[in-house]
Amino acid sequence: MNIPRILDGKSVAAAVLDECRAEVAALAEKGIVPGLAVVLVGEDPASQVYVGSKTRTCAELGFHSRKIELPAATTQDELLKVVRDLNADPAIHGILVQSPPPAHIDEEAVIRAIDPRKDVDGFHPENVAKLALEDPTGFVPCTPAGCMKLLEVAGISTQGAEAVVIGRSMIVGKPMALLLVSKKSNATVTIAHSRSKDLPAICRRADIVVAAVGRPEMVKADWVKPGAVVIDVGINRVEDASKKSGYRLTGDVAYAEVAPLCSAITPVPGGVGPMTIAMLMKNTLQAARQLG
Ligand code: NAD
Repeated sequence: MNIPRILDGKSVAAAVLDECRAEVAALAEKGIVPGLAVVLVGEDPASQVYVGSKTRTCAELGFHSRKIELPAATTQDELLKVVRDLNADPAIHGILVQSPPPAHIDEEAVIRAIDPRKDVDGFHPENVAKLALEDPTGFVPCTPAGCMKLLEVAGISTQGAEAVVIGRSMIVGKPMALLLVSKKSNATVTIAHSRSKDLPAICRRADIVVAAVGRPEMVKADWVKPGAVVIDVGINRVEDASKKSGYRLTGDVAYAEVAPLCSAITPVPGGVGPMTIAMLMKNTLQAARQLG
């Protein structure tokens, strides 16, 4: 029986955070304390969890962190002012506005208002361009950067591999595809999305499948070529009366049936999720280094 390798995001993230600690110490000698500001508008429960773990990780690493919680009724202008103030604040090297904001906020305009040198989420058009140009001074979005790190640490080569990325968002799918097709990674990449025809057949070609859709257990066993590597980015809350919270987390991959076929797979939770925060810390250190 094939026993797949479980790509343990928790331990890889812990190793990345250890590297970060060493860099915090090196920056301290130059009198620099990396600073991250996280702005949360409204009371989305999942966003509150994410923001909480980001600020906790900052504290663990010795970063300066600022959590700015704004009411759901905050206007676009008020939010833009907060961003501009953070742009001008020398103690802050990284700024992120937790997504999704309330519907009346123009998220794109907010992202464009962030100083690209402090855009540690890597969503500003200048950083999107730098990713496409393979310019290392840009910030790579944290989740796809975390997926690449997981592959690298596991020793999984992407060179010449057939990769299928399901999902074309600017947060995960598109940057993931750019990273895989880069001159460093050299994969042959297909980006599939909600209008793709015969997704199972597209998926079956892949040596590496990255699922970033937001549909619980969409990728089934007969979508996956035996021996493929499966990276499950999805985090879906599924009702579960047996849990105290009333829900459980599941990925975009039907793990129980897919895992036995794979050479390696990420679990949910404990796969890509922890990597995202670790890469955010790395990006904040990069910003602190570059801003000086
Ligand atoms: P999104 O909603 O912005 O994008 C989803 C993409 O999936 C779209 O491009 C769409 O075309 C595609 N899609 C939708 N239905 C499809 C279908 N039936 N077949 C094929 N493609 C389909 O979502 P996102 O922000 O990219 O996030 C995707 C998932 O990853 C979500 O579950 C999200 O919670 C999770 N996520 C996890 C992390 C993490 O840290 N692990 C970070 C970001 C997002």
